[in-house]
Amino acid sequence: LEQIDALSVKSFPLCMRQLHKALRDNHHLRHGGRMQYGLFLKGIGLTLEQALEFWKKEFIRGKVDADKFDKGYAYSIRHSYGKEGKRTDYTPYSCMKIIMSNPPSQGDYHGCPFRHSDPELLKQKLQSYKISPSGITQILELVKGMHYQLACQKYFELMHDVDDVGFSLNHPNQYFAESQRQLGG
Ligand code: SF4
Repeated sequence: LEQIDALSVKSFPLCMRQLHKALRDNHHLRHGGRMQYGLFLKGIGLTLEQALEFWKKEFIRGKVDADKFDKGYAYSIRHSYGKEGKRTDYTPYSCMKIIMSNPPSQGDYHGCPFRHSDPELLKQKLQSYKISPSGITQILELVKGMHYQLACQKYFELMHDVDDVGFSLNHPNQYFAESQRQLGG
């Protein structure tokens, strides 16, 4: 868990960093968040056993006890790993899917922050992440033009201190992989 805390700051795109933080703060995520974040974690290499342990550890710190977790939540985690039901091995969501479908409502933390956050809140968040004022201006301009993935790419450049990412971003797991490559991780 601590390892994921560190990774979430260094190498997660904003959408996943937001989900991780919400999970750590609230010890809970609603269904849309669990799906988006759970499949991303699967994509970065969490095994089913690790995923069960990860979610359980956090959930039982909140309102859910171990028994309720095993009965209510473990099934859907096994399901997303293709171990239940139709045994479909679900793949992590692309940016397009996150941006275009299932917009978050009050109390949800899934979605794409560049698309779904209020620009003022997005600005505050970027400030708290120590993004430079000129960087924030550039990101907000891209958001205004509805270039959400380019805004995310700009965020990547600023977080990794590179001038040009050299790829076109279309998937949160791609963001993670490129980040790890940049950092030599
Ligand atoms: Fe996540 Fe994609 Fe949005 Fe970036 S553009 S925050 S990776 S959904």
